[in-house]
Amino acid sequence: MTIAYDIDLRPFTTFRTHEAFARQFYVLTREEDAIEFATTYASRLSDILILGGGSNMLITRPVEAVVQVQINHRSIVDETSSHVVIRLGAGEMWHDCVAWAVSQGWAGIEAMALIPGTVGAAPIQNIGAYGQQFSDTCQWIEAVHLPSGRKMTFRAEECRFGYRDSRFKSEWKGSFIITAVGLKLEKRPTTTVHYQELRQALGERPEVTIQEVFECVINLRRSKLPPPTLGNAGSFFKNPIVPGEVALALAARYPSMPMHAYNGSVKLSAGWLIEQCGYKGIRRGDAGVYDRHALVLVNYGNARGKDILSLAREIKHAVQAQFGVELEEEVIIV
Ligand SMILES: Cc1cc2nc3c(=O)[nH]c(=O)nc-3n(C[C@H](O)[C@H](O)[C@H](O)COP(=O)(O)OP(=O)(O)OC[C@H]3O[C@@H](n4cnc5c(N)ncnc54)[C@H](O)[C@@H]3O)c2cc1C
Repeated sequence: MTIAYDIDLRPFTTFRTHEAFARQFYVLTREEDAIEFATTYASRLSDILILGGGSNMLITRPVEAVVQVQINHRSIVDETSSHVVIRLGAGEMWHDCVAWAVSQGWAGIEAMALIPGTVGAAPIQNIGAYGQQFSDTCQWIEAVHLPSGRKMTFRAEECRFGYRDSRFKSEWKGSFIITAVGLKLEKRPTTTVHYQELRQALGERPEVTIQEVFECVINLRRSKLPPPTLGNAGSFFKNPIVPGEVALALAARYPSMPMHAYNGSVKLSAGWLIEQCGYKGIRRGDAGVYDRHALVLVNYGNARGKDILSLAREIKHAVQAQFGVELEEEVIIV
């Protein structure tokens, strides 16, 4: 474990907002470091932020202690003729693990290529893209309990994974340092794609290779998302999920509103709602809404976390006023 002091957090988050500092900055490279941090340091600190790649957070204030997890390892823990079970350290970069799995001919995570950030953060909001989500292949999560320093392993069923959600993001928020995850992947070089946009991009073929899916997703994402030079954290808000009767009333008033059935309810497009309110491409100082994707808030250079937050609140207010729909942040606000 290493400890540094008075660190500017700009290079550690993809939003790169100003006025984000850590008074203490701990780097954990082994599971033992996480146990040592929990048992020796955590009880003396009142404000701890666990950090991966900083690609899903907006920091709006100085933080007493940042704990960056850089526990790196990959291994196969079980293998049959049809499956492989892999264990990944929390500090591994998610995309590198996807690329590794695809190169080995292991299916199950290929559509989640190019999601920025670390493996340890993937369970927090149950990352997902193009019809796949982390929970589809997750077998277990290894973590260290911050208040006690106890090492714990959770089965996937215990983590209550939902749409961009898990117990780690709600009732267990900030209580665990995730150190490793276990995934079960299929040994299958080809797959059938159901996600409409991806299926179309792949030429509506009934069967494609996982390598083709991987490459296609990379191309789609590169065409939509801002360049890495423009500070952002991907989708800022979740797509709202509303009861069927609310969706029917909205559809009557706004016939072109995109809607998708979702677990007995209806998922709306947050990007569409924001665009209809006239926010796509707007700018308030250095805080703005990306002009090619209304769901992505951007830092044009010198925005502070507070500037982005204030724009997000303005957008939430406008969507609520026009559609009566409440947007919820996907990004973690610190
Ligand atoms: C351009 C862009 C595109 C994106 N596209 C997608 C997408 O398609 N789908 C999607 O789901 N997300 C997407 N995201 C969001 C982001 O990539 C994911 O949420 C990712 O999992 C965040 O990883 P991270 O390591 O950067 O986490 P961070 O931002 O560092 O942390 C996120 C949360 O996880 C917690 N955390 C991090 N590591 C640990 C750990 N080891 N133990 C305990 N808690 C931890 C943090 O405290 C924080 O609450 C995108 C982001 C960007 C910038």
